[in-house]
Amino acid sequence: MPKKARKESRYERQILLKEWDQQKIRNGKVFIAGMGALGCVVALDLVLMGIGKLIICDFDTIEKSNLSRQMLFQESDINKSKVTVAQKYLIDLNPDVEIIAFNKEIQEVNPKIYEESDVIVDGLDTFEARRWLNSISVDKNKPLVHGGMYGWLGNVQVVIPFKTPCLDCQPLLPQERLQKPCTPPGKKRKKTKKVKKAPKMPSLLTISTIIGGIQAQETVKLILGVGKLLDNFLFYDGLSQTFTLMKLNQNSNCIVCGKNRIKGVDFSVDPRDTVRDLKDRLIMTLDIKEPMKVIVKGIIRNDNVKLNKIGIQNKESILIINKEMAKPLKIYAILHEK
Ligand SMILES: [Zn+2]
Repeated sequence: MPKKARKESRYERQILLKEWDQQKIRNGKVFIAGMGALGCVVALDLVLMGIGKLIICDFDTIEKSNLSRQMLFQESDINKSKVTVAQKYLIDLNPDVEIIAFNKEIQEVNPKIYEESDVIVDGLDTFEARRWLNSISVDKNKPLVHGGMYGWLGNVQVVIPFKTPCLDCQPLLPQERLQKPCTPPGKKRKKTKKVKKAPKMPSLLTISTIIGGIQAQETVKLILGVGKLLDNFLFYDGLSQTFTLMKLNQNSNCIVCGKNRIKGVDFSVDPRDTVRDLKDRLIMTLDIKEPMKVIVKGIIRNDNVKLNKIGIQNKESILIINKEMAKPLKIYAILHEK
């Protein structure tokens, strides 16, 4: 049998769908952030369907407690890198697919990789990394397919930058419910007794297969350009077996996708305040998390410095950098004395 016919026979059922175009799927490039329960499901689905290129990124190692949900890993993989094991497994499943693996944090991946992707999939388990992924998706104008889960519950949201609300427009996920990350290589022995372990989040394979399956489906629809995209917040409750769609609104003042994001956000500043005071107000009003850096006149400023000592002017542009934003946030100081 010619090679092409052999390849197509693998997909003969899905190409029966009138909306299907295997060549579009074969040309598709998808970035999956996180190889946990959701990332494993999305990767498995996309690879079996014959996605052209899959980029997987995770810095974690496999733990025994992952094996009840993360279906790309087995007992003998414990302590190995998640992406290395997943890459080998996925290539064995479908050698047509190119798999690129990054054993590092998502923030350390070359931004060009995000630019080259057609869709970015969120399979992360920390609020900080998820917020950063949302901001780079908006910055690179790439669709983001977000999924989350907690116990019997799950949720999916698709972000089409500047068209649908981003994750920062209306953050719905309480941080305390998000699982702490698993153990990165080499970090186990460095732990001191002072570090309190966050309780692990309840997590169920059936929920991850449903939520990951919906994420994979939305990804495929985006690549094919077919169907109605999920433009609401989808909430799933496995105990009552209900799907609820909640309407989300774009926030024009959103610091990630709002109109003022590119030209800068006006921010009221008292020149007698210190840099620390300014940081505290940014935390309170724009929900920017520590650690952050405040750059005025091109210099990172210390917390105890008073803004008027730096010679801050009305409409002075200030750059704010933290780990949750792919690009620094620009604010314009609107000076007023309290
Ligand atoms: Zn937004």
